[in-house]
Amino acid sequence: MHKDYYKTLGVNKSASQAEIKRAYRKLAQEHHPDKGNGNDAKFKEINEAYSVVGDEAKRKQYDQFGFVPGSGAGPGAGGRGPGGGAYNWQDYSNVNINFEDFGGFGDIFETFFGGNRRSGATSQRRGADIEATISIDLIDVLNGTEKEVTLSKWISCDKCKGSGAEPGFGIKTCPTCKGSGQISKATQTFLGTFAQNQICPECEGAGKIPEKKCTKCAGKGRIRESKKLLVKIPKGVDNGSIIKIVGEGEAAERGGKAGDLYLHVSIKGDSRFVRQGANLLTQISISFNKAILGTVADVPVVGGSIDLKIPAGTQPGQVIKIIGKGLPYLNTSKIGDLLVHVNIEIPKKINSTQKKLLEDWDSKKGWF
Ligand SMILES: [Zn+2]
Ligand SMILES: [Zn+2]
Repeated sequence: MHKDYYKTLGVNKSASQAEIKRAYRKLAQEHHPDKGNGNDAKFKEINEAYSVVGDEAKRKQYDQFGFVPGSGAGPGAGGRGPGGGAYNWQDYSNVNINFEDFGGFGDIFETFFGGNRRSGATSQRRGADIEATISIDLIDVLNGTEKEVTLSKWISCDKCKGSGAEPGFGIKTCPTCKGSGQISKATQTFLGTFAQNQICPECEGAGKIPEKKCTKCAGKGRIRESKKLLVKIPKGVDNGSIIKIVGEGEAAERGGKAGDLYLHVSIKGDSRFVRQGANLLTQISISFNKAILGTVADVPVVGGSIDLKIPAGTQPGQVIKIIGKGLPYLNTSKIGDLLVHVNIEIPKKINSTQKKLLEDWDSKKGWF
């Protein structure tokens, strides 16, 4: 279902930005809906293709992944977010083609066809996403936890409930742009005077403004504040896991959709353990005689320690598995294992009695 934008524009994958721009200009003029034989659907397709491959950064992304989130093509059109850890993709869904890139071509275009392509107000802008890091201990991985994070961010204004209007006042059509969200500005060029569209500075493209601006947020519908948030951390998270909390990013201006919060989990190291997914590795040391005779050893587990029976005749480097004493697998009730590596200590110095005992042992041929 991926769209081939190069095909849409009739260019090669290796085409230069200038070639792409030329191809776009030609096709856009040919299919402009205001023309007698124009084709609205085709025109939109061309614009979509150019909005991606006409932009070097987005083109790179498109070449690599086959689509650009929010561009209308491929999976995740309008959808965003992690899953694959690609959470930091930018949202291009509100990006229109910037005709300024055309060195004034957009103006001439409008003069030719007399149309206003970008009709209506631009859609409400979305609040920005926020990234933050949360630090937890290994015991929190075992049990799950709730942590408080403090975020300094734009939050919806409580006085006007995000509308930007002083309580008791409504929202009206912006008088500056008459609701279109754009204003036309006359530009002098050697070809004559052209009208150039700009985002309306009064309503910032929304097309609507409050009858009276909220005094708390100056009509923005949002205020900057520090906000505490209690976050649930599930059992079994890994170092570097990202928890997405929908709607906890920045509030949008004047009642738009809030962004999301992406919380990076950082797990404090515990030198007693090495984590391998849900399994933990640890090591203990016992004396050589205990290894021969067998013993009970104190073994660290997350949050404490347990007694482990070491069988007689345990060998250096032997690994004893303790089932269910690792960490939980994420989103399951399964728990990993603790793998205990046994080191055997051989004394560097012994006293005369010990020496005598060992020499006696050694003299008994066939014992070892
Ligand atoms: Zn307000
Ligand atoms: Zn306006």
